[in-house]
Amino acid sequence: MAQQQNNDENAAVSHRRYTIGASGFDAPVLQPGLHVVATPIGNLRDVTIRALETLAAADVIACEDTRHTRRLLDHYGIRARCVSYHEHNAAARRPELLKRLEEGEAVALVSDAGTPLISDPGYKLVEDVIEAGFTVIPVPGASALLSALVMAGLPTDSFFFAGFLPHKQGARKNRIAELAGIPGTLVFYEAPGRLAASLADMADVLGDRPAAYARELTKRFETVERATLNELAANLANGAAPKGEIVILVGPPDQAAGEADMSDAAFSDRLLALIAEHGVSRAAQMLALETGLRRKDVYARALALQSDADNGA
Ligand code: SAM
Repeated sequence: MAQQQNNDENAAVSHRRYTIGASGFDAPVLQPGLHVVATPIGNLRDVTIRALETLAAADVIACEDTRHTRRLLDHYGIRARCVSYHEHNAAARRPELLKRLEEGEAVALVSDAGTPLISDPGYKLVEDVIEAGFTVIPVPGASALLSALVMAGLPTDSFFFAGFLPHKQGARKNRIAELAGIPGTLVFYEAPGRLAASLADMADVLGDRPAAYARELTKRFETVERATLNELAANLANGAAPKGEIVILVGPPDQAAGEADMSDAAFSDRLLALIAEHGVSRAAQMLALETGLRRKDVYARALALQSDADNGA
């Protein structure tokens, strides 16, 4: 272990100190810069040693909610200086944090749960820190999206994190349609009260794909439901909304079904319409994205259709 265990009574008053159970440790001095620190998504033990060292040694911790972060800090005996950094005060707080970096300080950024910037505040701060020429240091750890992905039983070789969907049904369905052709597993964050409606809209727009939702990850009532979109939506249609925090995952479009569709009149009509408007190459690219088919296959079909049209077929 990089840090040295130190049971010396005097060390209890030193800065940069953290405890795990009854053991106390001194954290090494941090390099100046913005340290983006992942914290647990439920289970307080899901924190890395480096995250504890960073939180213990930072000159200041910018927290989404200081009271929330205090629970983690208290659990590990960390007496750090915290300031709030959330969507309502971010613009006002950024200059102050940048000034600290200018003075050579180490600033830690945390959110209430998981990895900052992942559907959480921090992107603009990182952008400004880079722009101002300071260092950004990631301290990786928990994130609900990866935990859900590895337990869902859906393909993991390629996935797309779509964050939260719009609340209004029209906008939500449009967004789902935009994602329909992505050839990978789709991952969404969702509030429990909107889970049933979102699953029903996904089933409507995407068809009956394999899917899952994971609830209360790393916590006492962690569960996962795996079924098709229609089944998941139907199971929730008349019941009470599940409680807790939720990640929805939807399997990729079925390539085999898509290939069969290539010969459909509707597919050809759509492709011809796109060719007329955008030309062969762009049309193939657009329809490949829409359907999840391979671009080179759609391109070959587009060329064949174009040639038929040129020959008056
Ligand atoms: N930054 C966090 C991360 O890295 O996962 C996400 C923050 S976002 C504001 C909160 C959403 O993440 C929740 O609404 C839920 O969709 C998901 N989430 C966070 N913790 C979770 C958990 N323990 N179980 C399931 N979903 C969780």
